Amino acid sequence: MGFFTDTSICIGCKACEVACKEWNRLPPDPPFQLTGLSFDNTEQLSASTWRHVAFIEQRKPVRRPSAGEQTSDHRWLMASDVCKHCTDAACLDVCPTGSLFRTEFGTVVVQADICNGCGYCVSACPYGVIDKRESDGLAWKCTLCYDRIGEGMVPACAKACPTESIQYGELSDLLDRATARVQTLHREGVTDARLYGHDPDDGVRGNGAFFLLLDEPEVYGLPPAPKDTTRDLPAMWRHMALAALTVAAGIITAFAAGR
Ligand code: SF4
Ligand code: SF4
Repeated sequence: MGFFTDTSICIGCKACEVACKEWNRLPPDPPFQLTGLSFDNTEQLSASTWRHVAFIEQRKPVRRPSAGEQTSDHRWLMASDVCKHCTDAACLDVCPTGSLFRTEFGTVVVQADICNGCGYCVSACPYGVIDKRESDGLAWKCTLCYDRIGEGMVPACAKACPTESIQYGELSDLLDRATARVQTLHREGVTDARLYGHDPDDGVRGNGAFFLLLDEPEVYGLPPAPKDTTRDLPAMWRHMALAALTVAAGIITAFAAGR
């Protein structure tokens, strides 16, 4: 199960942010301040913001898809970001206590009562999603409403979204819908529309939360080619073991030659 976030129909109302905060009883992000980033005063995902709606202002002609008529020379890209619930989740791989685990729905959840606050997951996440909360020193992130979906309910953000920009369901169904939506947009002349995070052959073997974007991922603050940060660890350990064996063999040889 997972999320498909279609940013082409997001209206930036932030109902998803509010619903997430309310359902999960998340504290405010202190201190509140005007960032100067359009209508975005949250700036990024954090330990207390598990959905973040980005507002990106661009100087780019906007046309009515049907009429091809230019209506403005500026556009807003609005996109509700969230934990990607990676197939190869580095946060989960590096967690020494088992606080992060894969659920029966294929999602990645962190259990605060087992977290020891080491922060390994924070530096391991290739998207900069998971974060430690200052007030308790523990790691927090989106659970894809584990408590709700376990009861057959839709996650709070998807339930609150008035435009169905956030859709929840079986990943294969969502991918079919997303692919059809991209084809429709291309037919209407929105040729920059593309999917992000849907590919099982990417560096994290695909995401449980993928997106339809209207520009390059970097424009939305997303890495263009995310990689599982733990994927080279086995090779590194092998090289270290080989180096240690070589040093040991050298010491033994020198010792034997000296006798
Ligand atoms: S996006 Fe980051 S926090 Fe979320 S599952 Fe992937 S590695 Fe973990
Ligand atoms: S609730 Fe839906 S339309 Fe509103 S900001 Fe979130 S994703 Fe966009």
